[in-house]
Amino acid sequence: MRDEILDLLRELAAIDSVNPDLVPGAAGEGEVAAHIVGWAERAGLDVVVQDVEPGRPNVIVTASGSGGGRSLMLNAHIDVVGVEGYAAPFQPVTEPSRISGRGVLDTKVGVATALVLARHALGRGLRGDVVVAAVVDEECGSKGTDALVASGLATAAAIVLEPTELTIVHAHRGWAWGRITVHGHAAHGSRPDLGFDAIVHAAPVLTGLAALQARLTTLPHPVVGAASIHAGLIRGGTEMSTYPARCEIDIERRNIPGEDASTLTGELTELTRLIDPRVRTEVTATFGRAPLMISVDEPVVQALVGAGPGLPIGASAFWTDAAILAEAGIPSVVFGPGGGGIHETEEWLDLESFDVFHRVLWQAVRSFCE
Ligand SMILES: [Zn+2]
Repeated sequence: MRDEILDLLRELAAIDSVNPDLVPGAAGEGEVAAHIVGWAERAGLDVVVQDVEPGRPNVIVTASGSGGGRSLMLNAHIDVVGVEGYAAPFQPVTEPSRISGRGVLDTKVGVATALVLARHALGRGLRGDVVVAAVVDEECGSKGTDALVASGLATAAAIVLEPTELTIVHAHRGWAWGRITVHGHAAHGSRPDLGFDAIVHAAPVLTGLAALQARLTTLPHPVVGAASIHAGLIRGGTEMSTYPARCEIDIERRNIPGEDASTLTGELTELTRLIDPRVRTEVTATFGRAPLMISVDEPVVQALVGAGPGLPIGASAFWTDAAILAEAGIPSVVFGPGGGGIHETEEWLDLESFDVFHRVLWQAVRSFCE
């Protein structure tokens, strides 16, 4: 099974699938999706292609069980981040202890492992279905897993195959984006009597933000750690000799379980109260994603715990598509191998970690779907 997975991994990693929403004009997921379709059809698996956007399909591959068992989704994304500065991103290199190349770890190893496990599940007499969801756009807007959920695909549980260094991740923070707009009044720079400076009057928001961040660090969640808040972007003014009529501060918050988009808008509204009351302000929520928090007693968590006794259980610092699946009612956990260089110019999969990963995953699939 090991060599079969690594062969498929090298094939997938040799195909450029840079997310075109991250890098305009990039290749996208079409070619790698087509390769998966061909592989899965030759393996005798059921294949459904779900067009998320033109040329950007999810591929859903099913090893049908005999019936009456629990179905399990193995979800991994097929898009990769940009390759600026990466010498030979799509020529995977195999060394004794690692395979390197863009996307090998994040997450083509997950895609390859899931597909090969599905093939091995055929004819094993499992009662539940093993469903591989090879999804697009995780690195940007998660349109792939959104489309999956919108299509009504439902399984009893899911494992999202992101690189967790063999930690069984049952929780992570979510995030919310919001904006404070401060309105001033434009006037010639020589006319302080007519102008009202939106940038200067926005300043209390920034100092208030620093105080809020300091307060959040004192209130950690027992599993995922503390929420956090920071300024992401600031825009204001039109030219040097004009009083700025507008200043916008875009703010990101990392949310802990129990918080949602309204947590941020509530805090931003509080921050605007620090501003001179003569100033007009607006608070808007722009985007966000829920945190993940499922019980360690969930059968899918216990399947991994049983398959890999002694592996750590906990939270990841990063957000994953598991939160979308869990919000749709599919208990979801995140599990994957280790390595390094994700989103950098030398990405690699650690093969020692991979050997544990694929064995534990296979054992968990069998025990969950038997
Ligand atoms: Zn990823």
